[in-house]
Amino acid sequence: MCIFCKIIAGEIPSTKVYEDETIYAFRDINPQAPTHILIVPKRHIARAGELTEADGVLVGHIFAVAAQVAKAEGLESFRVVTNSGKDAGQTVNHLHFHLMGGRVLSNAMV
Ligand code: AMP
Repeated sequence: MCIFCKIIAGEIPSTKVYEDETIYAFRDINPQAPTHILIVPKRHIARAGELTEADGVLVGHIFAVAAQVAKAEGLESFRVVTNSGKDAGQTVNHLHFHLMGGRVLSNAMV
């Protein structure tokens, strides 16, 4: 089982922010911003590069939850990012979306 599958299963502790049947959200252990939350599908999908049209509802739901969580965190501005593959900075091979905010974020895209 991968580390995020273990977090979802409750085998590794995490600070849960949101959970439903298909997704789980928790605070990043090494936050890069005052709010830094990871939103992950419960189903193991390795990376964004593995997504297909069939995952459209799931990904839409993740963004709707991101908006809801951002609001609950009091964020007017926020960023949602996913890294797909090692050269893009992906270190955990379970699809996750970083939700970050609470400070002025850099305009750098790379
Ligand atoms: P990425 O580099 O895009 O794959 O992002 C992986 C993220 O997972 C990093 O921001 C890590 O700080 C975070 N992370 C790794 N292990 C844990 C953990 N046990 N609990 C919370 N966040 C974690």
